Amino acid sequence: MNFNEFLSGRPANDYVFQKMDYNEQIGKAADLLQEADVVLIGAGAGLSTAAGLTYGGKRFTDNFQEYIDKYGSMYMTDMYSAGFFPFPTGEAKWGYWAKHSYINRIEPEGLPVYKAVYKLVEHKEHFVLTTNVDHQFEKSGFEEDNIFATQGDYGLIQCAKGCHQKTYDAIESFKQMVPATKDCKIPSHMVPKCPVCGGVMVMNLRCDQYFVEDEHWHEQDEKFGAFLTDNMDKKMVLFELGVGFNTPTIIRFPFENLLREHENISLIRLNLNEAVVPESFENRAIGINEDIGKVLSDIYVNIEKGK
Ligand SMILES: [Zn+2]
Repeated sequence: MNFNEFLSGRPANDYVFQKMDYNEQIGKAADLLQEADVVLIGAGAGLSTAAGLTYGGKRFTDNFQEYIDKYGSMYMTDMYSAGFFPFPTGEAKWGYWAKHSYINRIEPEGLPVYKAVYKLVEHKEHFVLTTNVDHQFEKSGFEEDNIFATQGDYGLIQCAKGCHQKTYDAIESFKQMVPATKDCKIPSHMVPKCPVCGGVMVMNLRCDQYFVEDEHWHEQDEKFGAFLTDNMDKKMVLFELGVGFNTPTIIRFPFENLLREHENISLIRLNLNEAVVPESFENRAIGINEDIGKVLSDIYVNIEKGK
């Protein structure tokens, strides 16, 4: 199985918020993790939000007030919408993105919530499938070999037209751009150009058909496929963290599909607001609708108590 084959599934028609008591849910999740042979983590935006990398509110205004004043608070409502702003020039575009990358990808160390995930699976065979592009798994103890970040990386750039299937590490450039930024713009000589066609460069983020899946992306796609194939008959737990309904086709629906097709697979779904699970999965699925950081630490405490 590869990533494309994995991407199947549909919304369930029997989603429910489980009526189980919170402590009972924690106990069940702890048991499932303990008894698992292997754990496949599926992580979405909600995990990074829970970890503190929030895109709106004070964290946005603290870092981007100058940009909000310049481009208008109507467009600059948070870091998500700001990323879609049609910056008029390359100088302005990288003036924004260098800073965005700096505060979300370059500067933060491994955050406690991510480290808590690692502590729960470090002694089990595991693999991470994530739509997050902030590199937090790598920084929190996970082996790069065990991570498949399907949607890109805030540390990489690519040709806007994808004229060749290669990405470029931009971290050192971003570190120089940030202090050189004036009036929300970087100096012209710092604007990156495609080394092959001489055209415009963009962040390596999946937002159109030109997204570059580089060599590393394909290697990880293969490792992900091998992990699934090798472990399909084992006691596998899908540990889904912060995957909402924005892009449910990448992790949520395929995970549910795996449960439908394999009785040996179970699901732990942690989500602050959207932890509904299909009722038909009965006791093979657990959906905990609470702050993810709190839940992770409660599961850990429960496991330690049982030892
Ligand atoms: Zn090019």
